[in-house]
Amino acid sequence: MHGMSTDARVPVAASPAGAASSWGLGDGQAIPWEYAPAPEARDIVTLKERYGLFIGGREVQASDGGTFATVDPATEQVLAHVAKATPQDIDKAVRAARRAGARSWGSLPGRERAKYLFRIARIMQERAREFAVLESMDSGKPIKESRDVDVPLAAAHFWYYAGWADKLEYAFPGRTAHPLGVAAQIIPWNFPLLMLAWKIAPALAAGNTVVLKPASTTPLTALLFADVCQQADLPPGVVNIVPGPGAVGMSLVTHRGVDKVAFTGSTEIGRLIAKGVAGTDKGLTLELGGKAANIVFDDAPLDQAVEGIVNGIYFNQGEVCCAGSRLLVQESIADTLIDKLKDRLSTIRVGDPLDKNTDVGAINSKAQLEKITELVQSGVDEGAELYQPACDLPERGYFFRPTLFTNVAQSHRIAREEIFGPVLSVLTFRTPDEAIEKANNTAYGLSAGIWTDKGSRILHMVSKMRAGVVWANTFNRFDPTSPFGGYKESGFGREGGMHGLYAYVRLEDR
Ligand code: NDP
Repeated sequence: MHGMSTDARVPVAASPAGAASSWGLGDGQAIPWEYAPAPEARDIVTLKERYGLFIGGREVQASDGGTFATVDPATEQVLAHVAKATPQDIDKAVRAARRAGARSWGSLPGRERAKYLFRIARIMQERAREFAVLESMDSGKPIKESRDVDVPLAAAHFWYYAGWADKLEYAFPGRTAHPLGVAAQIIPWNFPLLMLAWKIAPALAAGNTVVLKPASTTPLTALLFADVCQQADLPPGVVNIVPGPGAVGMSLVTHRGVDKVAFTGSTEIGRLIAKGVAGTDKGLTLELGGKAANIVFDDAPLDQAVEGIVNGIYFNQGEVCCAGSRLLVQESIADTLIDKLKDRLSTIRVGDPLDKNTDVGAINSKAQLEKITELVQSGVDEGAELYQPACDLPERGYFFRPTLFTNVAQSHRIAREEIFGPVLSVLTFRTPDEAIEKANNTAYGLSAGIWTDKGSRILHMVSKMRAGVVWANTFNRFDPTSPFGGYKESGFGREGGMHGLYAYVRLEDR
């Protein structure tokens, strides 16, 4: 096994943007292929210079007047300054949420709560383009993903849970479901609006009120959502949005007025949050990291599998907790599949997130780019073989080439640690048992993928995989009706589907 022979440093940014892409020939060669720029217009978004916190139905400044800047990761330019919540503001927000629960929301009949959720869903759809453009500007994800995945799915979660709001007695037959009270919700930067929807929609449907802290690098769509709450005439205090640093997130978690904590993010912070909640009667759900195995058997439809592998790891720059970051290929087809993958990689377009042709946008932050670069360097240093297509990267912004590692050993950091970037580690196996052992040989257990022609093999593999979600002959498919969550260090509790309601109710036998 050996690393890259020529330059063993991993490139971060290279030659100028706007150069030709290519069209794979199937023999490792590529014909240059010019794409005309197809930029999405930004003028649908009206950026304010300053954004406040959203507490008690109103926009307010932080108690100490503090702000922080949010940056467009594709240009490194400041988009806006956002109020930075303090523990005092957290206290205000939790009190507002408690009041709203006691005064109106907690006792509102389910069919009335449903009307608000339907209204929110409809407004999100009406303002979908605005949400999509803003999401791409603030997070770096390609517009085709925010437009076709994040925003429609976020709205779909509100539609779906609106349907449950007046049917809780059917979700929990023979028992009465009571709301828990105030839900503290902390979300990450990889799917800012979608994670908000995953958390807020079931909480409100079950009659809770919420205080939500978005990630510091992506607060803007959550604040646009605050605008939607006002437009929908949601009673003040039912939803409160408090951007601020991690420490402020902890003061939210440990606030005595909070009844339930829901967190999505790193395993490291998940552990801290579990400690913060320990010894209290607060409910807790944790959706943490992953290192999913995407397993391809020799009878799989290979071209379809290649698309699934690409979608599994390069979707959202690989900044996906359930990304298929470990490719397990049956040895007899490994060379063929890797050749096909390399061909496919040469056609991936990396660049301006707002260009409709872009497949891989900007990495969310400088810190994340540094983390990816460091881990990729460790792969080279430990002896894996690196492949990156010869694509041009923009001169400014946080970009990283789609990366593929072969000759990966299970002990390598790139096979064990969550990279959260467009980096695929390829391992091989001979028998289904070996595939199962390797797939489960991880501290995580969030998701997995299986590619095979045989239904019986799919069922066998699914029964053996320690992963919350297993996709068969597809990857990264999401649906509001389907529960999502992990085992082991990927956390506990389920979001989505009827299961997602469970975390937001106290059940009483009738
Ligand atoms: P974090 O886990 O730090 O961030 C997730 C959320 O938690 C953010 O809102 C963050 O706020 C908040 N937070 C940070 N510290 C605390 C704290 N002490 N108490 C309460 N809340 C806190 O993820 P990072 O952004 O640091 O990313 C690091 C790594 O985590 C990534 O490289 C990736 O591997 C993994 N990750 C996994 C995600 C997943 O979906 N499973 C999502 C994001 C990251 P703030 O933004 O202000 O720091």
